[in-house]
Amino acid sequence: MLIGIDDTDSPGGMCTTYLGAVLARRLICDHMRVREARLVRLNPNVTFKTRGNAAIAFNVVGDADRAFDLACGIVEELADFSCENTNPGVVVTDRKPDAAFYRKAVTGFCTVDEATGILDAAGARYRGWKNRRGLIGATAAVASELADRTSEILVYREPQRFGTPRNVDRASLFAAEAATFPHTWDTVDVANDVVVCVPHTPDPVLFGIRGESPQWVMAARQMIISEKPALEQIWVTNQGTDAHLIAGTIGLLDEGISYYVRGTVAETPKTGTGGHVSFTLCEEERIVRCMAYEPTKNFRQIIRQLVPGDTVIACGSCKKESINLEKIKIVSLKKAETTRPPICEACNKRMTSDGKGKGWKCKKCGARADAPDVQEISRTLETGWYEVPPTARRHLAKPLCRGLPEF
Ligand code: ATP
Repeated sequence: MLIGIDDTDSPGGMCTTYLGAVLARRLICDHMRVREARLVRLNPNVTFKTRGNAAIAFNVVGDADRAFDLACGIVEELADFSCENTNPGVVVTDRKPDAAFYRKAVTGFCTVDEATGILDAAGARYRGWKNRRGLIGATAAVASELADRTSEILVYREPQRFGTPRNVDRASLFAAEAATFPHTWDTVDVANDVVVCVPHTPDPVLFGIRGESPQWVMAARQMIISEKPALEQIWVTNQGTDAHLIAGTIGLLDEGISYYVRGTVAETPKTGTGGHVSFTLCEEERIVRCMAYEPTKNFRQIIRQLVPGDTVIACGSCKKESINLEKIKIVSLKKAETTRPPICEACNKRMTSDGKGKGWKCKKCGARADAPDVQEISRTLETGWYEVPPTARRHLAKPLCRGLPEF
């Protein structure tokens, strides 16, 4: 059977993955076999998400009625019902629903009615609390098919420590990254000297290590020195796979959807207040603004070097009619040129303009020229892929260390 759960936490605490890790242990104590623990990230632009729009699913061998009771029981026990925005959903199904629902939930928007329609058709047991919105994520999790997958080990705190400062040895995190990158990633941000894998929110997570396989995340995890954890769970995930990106066309982009779009830089990038960098991208007559926000740090240095005429593939979510850049491919660089007045061949002196569109004239000998002196400006920017640093990376964005995108 597949068990799906979502929407149990609030900004004030709890985490659906923690609740899931506790449930997995209760299922095992009840003589069930947990074959896989899955953590799926859904559309990152859903506004009512608490943090990373995560939902979980377990593949379990055992009694479905008993598993449903245990799953509902743990939601009642641990979910943060006090928060208006916490609307849990639990699904237990013997039949896997159509993966199209998962794809819609990760790339677009779904309704509770769509989820319950699919659950009824699959003959699933399900329960939603309050406005039942969590049924969307719970259904998407059990419907998920992961063409590409990664691992994350999440290490959880002892309940008495929830909400207190976390004690994780910084040097051991940098050592773990050095020893296991690129097979693990986003433990720390080396260029910006920042720890990435330890949250600052009051939830039960102590730290999480992301990587290619359970073996690699475990190898990194074993190097990390920290306060005594309560429990640990390795999850199969769609994180770092670009599952949220779909092909887009400038002029036909919808709000809240994440795209990769090809276009030509139309205007020189500008740095606005707060250090946010923006430029316009065009395709034929249609344009869209692309944004590299201040938290994307050094990535903005790449964007600032673009010039009109460069062709790029921009990846990111469409928000407020802009693409918020996650990564970019510089496909081709426009030859950048400057023009100056030509040099008089007889006098070896620069000529002066004779008026707009009237060519140039040598002040000394009166010789005339029609064409300016064109000089190519050398470009240090190189074609290829560039990405935001780990501190600014979204859960679903595929890091370049995993391989270059094929679009
Ligand atoms: P949690 O750890 O509790 O999962 P979160 O940041 O993942 O926290 P949720 O609290 O789960 O966010 O809130 C997200 C809500 O949005 C859930 O109710 C989920 O069912 C719903 N949801 C997820 N994806 C979509 C989607 N594509 N369309 C509509 N609703 C969605």
